[in-house]
Amino acid sequence: MHRSLSNLTQRIDRVLLERLIPAIYRDVEPVTVEAAHLPGEPVPADVGLALPYAPFAVGQFWGPAWSTTWFRFTGEVPERMRGGRVELIVDLGFERAGPGFRSEGLAYTADGTPIKGIEPRTAYVPVAREAAGGERVEVYVEAAANPRFDGTVTQLGDRETAPDTPLYRLDRAELALRDEEVYALVLDVQVLHQLALELAVTDPRHHEIRRALELMLDELDLGDLTGSAPAARKRLAGVLASPAAPSAHRVTAVGHAHIDSAWLWPVRETIRKCSRTFSNVVALADEYPELVFACSSAQQYAWLREHHPQVYRRVAEKVASGQFLPVGGMWVESDTNMPGGEALVRQFTQGKRFFAAEFGIEPREVWLPDSFGYSGSLPQLARLAGFRWFLSQKMSWNQTNRFPHHTFWWEGIDGSRVFTHFPPAETYSSELSGRELAFGVANFTEHGRSTVSLLPFGYGNGGGGPTREMLEIARRVADLEGSPRLAIRTPAEFFAEAEHEYPDAPVWNGEMYLEYHRGTYTSQSAMKRGNRHTEHLLREAELWCATAASRTGHEYPYDELDAIWQETLLLQFHDILPGSSIAWVHREARQTYARLADRLETLIDAALAALTGPGSVPLVANAAPHPRPGVPALGIAPAPADGTGPDAPAVSVRTGPDGTVLDNGLLRVRIATDGTVAAIRDLVADREVLPAGAPANVLQLHPDLPNKFDAWDVDEFYRNRRHDLTEVTELTVQADDPRCVRVRISRADRDSAYVQTVSLAAGERVLRFETEVDWHERETFLKVAFPVDVQATHSSSEIQFGHLQRPTHTNTSWDAARFEICAHRWLHVGEPGYGVALVNDGTYGHDVTRRPPGDAQGAQPTTVRLSLLRGPRYPDPDTDRGAHRFGYALVCGAEIEDAVREGYRANLPARRRTGGHPVDPLIEVSDPAVVVEAVKLADDRSGDVIVRLYESLGGRARARLRASFGLAAARVVDLLERADESVAALAPVTVEGDAVDLALTPFQVVTLRLTPARA
Ligand SMILES: [Zn+2]
Repeated sequence: MHRSLSNLTQRIDRVLLERLIPAIYRDVEPVTVEAAHLPGEPVPADVGLALPYAPFAVGQFWGPAWSTTWFRFTGEVPERMRGGRVELIVDLGFERAGPGFRSEGLAYTADGTPIKGIEPRTAYVPVAREAAGGERVEVYVEAAANPRFDGTVTQLGDRETAPDTPLYRLDRAELALRDEEVYALVLDVQVLHQLALELAVTDPRHHEIRRALELMLDELDLGDLTGSAPAARKRLAGVLASPAAPSAHRVTAVGHAHIDSAWLWPVRETIRKCSRTFSNVVALADEYPELVFACSSAQQYAWLREHHPQVYRRVAEKVASGQFLPVGGMWVESDTNMPGGEALVRQFTQGKRFFAAEFGIEPREVWLPDSFGYSGSLPQLARLAGFRWFLSQKMSWNQTNRFPHHTFWWEGIDGSRVFTHFPPAETYSSELSGRELAFGVANFTEHGRSTVSLLPFGYGNGGGGPTREMLEIARRVADLEGSPRLAIRTPAEFFAEAEHEYPDAPVWNGEMYLEYHRGTYTSQSAMKRGNRHTEHLLREAELWCATAASRTGHEYPYDELDAIWQETLLLQFHDILPGSSIAWVHREARQTYARLADRLETLIDAALAALTGPGSVPLVANAAPHPRPGVPALGIAPAPADGTGPDAPAVSVRTGPDGTVLDNGLLRVRIATDGTVAAIRDLVADREVLPAGAPANVLQLHPDLPNKFDAWDVDEFYRNRRHDLTEVTELTVQADDPRCVRVRISRADRDSAYVQTVSLAAGERVLRFETEVDWHERETFLKVAFPVDVQATHSSSEIQFGHLQRPTHTNTSWDAARFEICAHRWLHVGEPGYGVALVNDGTYGHDVTRRPPGDAQGAQPTTVRLSLLRGPRYPDPDTDRGAHRFGYALVCGAEIEDAVREGYRANLPARRRTGGHPVDPLIEVSDPAVVVEAVKLADDRSGDVIVRLYESLGGRARARLRASFGLAAARVVDLLERADESVAALAPVTVEGDAVDLALTPFQVVTLRLTPARA
């Protein structure tokens, strides 16, 4: 047998692209187009429909960036289309691009009922499945001129800076008659052609399919595609009917649309994206009853309920019928590196409460396909929130190391495990192409032990979702020789089967560090600070409101707190808190954080006023879980009179030619004339804290132009060049308060200005820093360095409800890849007997290094650096320009428990006010290792007090919690505050009067529901 002298692949491609696909619509009829342009913000459909419409023509331009154009298409189905499937085709200027990243629209009937989204690859509006002829057509399309971004510096990312030139041209608007046989033939050919290209040339099946395609082409009359398509399809029927091998891998396909809650579009556009995508889904679900569509993020349902109630009702119908499936159960698909412990709890509880209240559904799988790495706290929190499974695929983005499993148990820092799956096709928006299906099988690491994997299909990021072509493909590959078996099922069905089949799957312990996007711990500094600040204000508001409600009958602001939590949780979305959205998103987020802070301050103020009563006694409120001098944890005490304080010596100051020396009897600190901290003597431990000749608090600038993804990435080579700030414009000592002496250092460098205040207070081994930066650098990484004379093989970073150890060395590629790490309020390095913690009040990025390569002898010091600012130019060209403030402190002689305490303290400054009297804490906990994270009233509004606490040191702890009120009952509940036997069994408690005795395991999180005795 000779090889064919012509190239069959080229022949198939050409006929498909140039003849068959253009012939899917075999007859067209023009429609009348009119348009109304809306330069500003979107309007509801009733307003849009009533706008003044003017004539418009196909070929005309429309849509300056972020504007909306309402189109009206009117026409009549001609008689000659009678009996056929007639659709209105609208091409808003798609230029063959994929959906979600440019112009898109939502089609409405003349009475304002949404029909479906108009997007690339799904640009049709159904008119008649079987036309009668003569039907009048009137369709409105709300077209959004969302600009497209290509990774270059642009001002398009904010309505306030975008130019007002139109971006798009209406390319097509006409009624079209679909040729059903040609349409089906196109799909047959695509499925078989793509499958054959994935099969080895040594596989007879490859040749059988290719031969069938060749015979099909010979059968096809290019002059009469409509007439010859049925016969051509018959040539493919045999190879399409051949079933999959018994050993074929089995794929659970799940319809999906990853919709980023904000990213290259503002939140208001996400709301419309949801309406477009979900309209598509419900329309498709009508036509394809097998479709199951998984949708996470309670926030997106809440938006739909508020802004597009008609679409929401349709979604609710499909939820009831099982086709539209709430999954994940979080408020949004949040970042998981930076949100605090209580915030992650609320992501789960707010999400699950919404799904339960609206649909009576409780998801069992955490759904986070796209977040930038996964905190080691998540498994415990997921289990305590009633989840069993975890889905992601993002670890496939690792730059250096390949994650070893696709199906495994993920074990968190406390030992809890969730059964986890990473779709081996490494996508959350599959088109079900032959390539993706084959890659998913070839890439799957669990063959021989597991036979199943999951594949989310449907256009994503900017939305779009599944198309009818994907569903047609799914039907064709359900049971097809050479392909994996494919069934559309729910994630829960998949997980139940996968876990049953593979109960002894391998275990991955600790965090899942994404070896990518390391700049997101630092980019858009105001997001970091806003998040940290809001989280702590929420803690204060709930604590004081619960205390006031319990003590004084003060009304607990359930609705207001819920609303503030929900806004805070939205801002933790995986492109907002990480700082990877356009300027518009971050501008609005900054405004939101300011507004939330005001609302929370009002709540706190009202609660404290109720608690302390009127009066002029100076008081200090301490919302931290540890006492501070003179004030109990969670209590309010009289403030010390001015000039008095803890019984400790004052701070002495001496200035000489080698700088300024501050001494409080515990630390002796020398600040050099260049403004750096030249030496710190720990007088208690009798040792130097800094290595000789290595100053601390050094501001260091690095060029920072990553290879890709500016806001996301910092590449390791940034370290190769460095510029230390050692020029001082002014240095002043403020010694008027002997209880706390300050040294103020001003610097100017290039276009930016820096003012640092270093302070040493009486009675503490803590050196505090406040750094203000007027930042005008671009593509520059600002760090502040603290070399410390401890030999540490690992650093400990605070994460949610605990901490995580990471090596400081670079033995393996896994260690080396963690060159930038995330820590919450503190990072600790130590050797037996002595350690140092660097605490902060609003940043997350750190790096910890040992001496650079080269000769060395003896103990090796460790350098801890805090990441303060970057200046990425994409997608926000002016990221972080302007004023910033950072607070951090070096805690000398710190064990982990000191780091925990100082971390809370730095983020919960004492609140001074006047009132009538001090206030005892609502609850007290005996063991400082057991930390109270939240005190609130129960979500069910029963008046029960909820206390969430955790073991903070990684060991076992016994603690007694004492309530200041009569206890009718005390129970351990899950995060949703529900009785749960398995959760209660993890934390046995005994109640004795008003005291609750607890035994905790390492990093265990316990939620106590305390029912007060009613009078
Ligand atoms: Zn995403």
